[in-house]
Amino acid sequence: MSHTSTATIPAAGQADPAGSASLRAAQRRSAELEALIAADAARFRILTGDRPTGPLHLGHYFGTLAGRVRLQRAGAELFVLVADYQVLTDRDVADRLSERIDGLVADYLATGIDPATATIFAHSAVPALNQLMLPFLSLVSVTELGRNPTVKEEIALSRQRAVSGLMLTYPVHQAADILFCKANLVPVGKDQLPHLQVARTIARRFDERYAGGSAFFPIPDPLLSATPNLLGTDGTKMSKSRGNAIALSATADETARLIRGARTDARRDITFEADVRPEVSSLVQLAALCQDRAPDEVAAEIGAGGSAELKRVVTESVNEFLRPIRQRRADLAADPGYLRGVLRDGNARAAAIASGTLTDVHALMGTGHGSA
Ligand code: ATP
Ligand code: MG
Repeated sequence: MSHTSTATIPAAGQADPAGSASLRAAQRRSAELEALIAADAARFRILTGDRPTGPLHLGHYFGTLAGRVRLQRAGAELFVLVADYQVLTDRDVADRLSERIDGLVADYLATGIDPATATIFAHSAVPALNQLMLPFLSLVSVTELGRNPTVKEEIALSRQRAVSGLMLTYPVHQAADILFCKANLVPVGKDQLPHLQVARTIARRFDERYAGGSAFFPIPDPLLSATPNLLGTDGTKMSKSRGNAIALSATADETARLIRGARTDARRDITFEADVRPEVSSLVQLAALCQDRAPDEVAAEIGAGGSAELKRVVTESVNEFLRPIRQRRADLAADPGYLRGVLRDGNARAAAIASGTLTDVHALMGTGHGSA
C-alpha cells in the first residue's frame, strides 16, 4: 500500500516551530532509512509497542501497525511490546488489564503481525529489561526529563492530580525497551520523537561512559510513517484515552455512529486543506487511506456533497477496509488460550535476550557481583 498523504503534518511557521523542525528532520531521515530497508531489511531489528489502555485504532494502524507488518514481511526482525507497566503513567490503576492485553495481542495478529518470527511480550514479564532502567536513569538529567514535550502534553491530559515519578521517567523506561534487545529501528508516530531522542542520548552516553566509545548499544532511529499523527473525530490526535478513536475492533454500526458525531466546519464544499480545515481534511484523509487513494481526489469527488456525503463515504470506506481485519480478530478473540500462548512464548524469548544484555551491562559497569 502506498499512503502518501501528509495531511496532519504542521506547516513551517506554525505554533510549534521546534517540533516542526524535528518532524521534518525525522521525515528526511525516514526517507533514507526506507532506502536502506529496501536494500536489506534483515539488518534491522525493530522494537515497537503499545499501552494496553484500550483497543488499537486507525491511528495505530496507519501510524505504525501497517509499517510493522510491512517491515516484518520485508525480512526485518520484529519485537512488539505490550507496555503494561506504562499504563500507570497517567492513571492510578490499570483497569481490566488481562482483557486488554488479550485484545492487544488479537489486534496485532489480526493486522498481520506473524508470531512465528515476531517476539510479542509484556513489560512486567521481563524483569531484566526493567532492571536496565536503573543505570539508564543515571544517564539523564531531571531538566532533560522535564522538558519532554510529549510528557508535558500527557501530564496536561492526565487523570491524576499529581505527576508521578513514572510519568516523568517513562521515556527512560522506553529506552530500556528499545535497548535491551539492541533494536536499531523504531517505527513510531510523531508523539514518540522526543522519546526516541532520550533513547538515543542514553545509548550514546552509556557507550561513552562504559563501553569506551564502542557501539555496545546501537543508536536507534525513529521511522515515521506517512501518517505520523492521524486525527480523531474531535480534530485532535486520535488516542485510545481521548474517546475520539475508531477502534479496529469497533462494529460497523459503532463506526458509523462515531463518524456521524465527528466535528466538521461550516463550509459546504469538501476540500482537502489540512492547515486551514483540519477536521474536514482528517476525515478526507481517513477515507483516502482506506481507499489507498490521494486525498485531493477523494475530496474533489465529494465536492458539493458536503459533510453528510463526506461522512457517508468515510464510514463506508473505513468499514470496507476493516472488514477482513475485524473478521480475523473475532476468530482470534474466540481463542484466548492461543493468544496467551503467543505471549508466553514471546515473554520467554524476550527474557532470555534481556538477561544476556543485563549480564553484559553488569560486566561493563562493574555491577552484578555474585549474580549467577
Ligand atoms: P493512549 O491514549 O492510551 O496513550 P494512544 O492511542 O496514544 O493511547 P499508544 O499506545 O500511546 O496509543 O501509542 C502506540 C503507538 O501508536 C506509538 O508509536 C504512537 O506514536 C502510535 N500512535 C498512536 N496514536 C497515533 C495517531 N493518532 N497517529 C499516528 N500514530 C499514532
Ligand atoms: Mg499515547
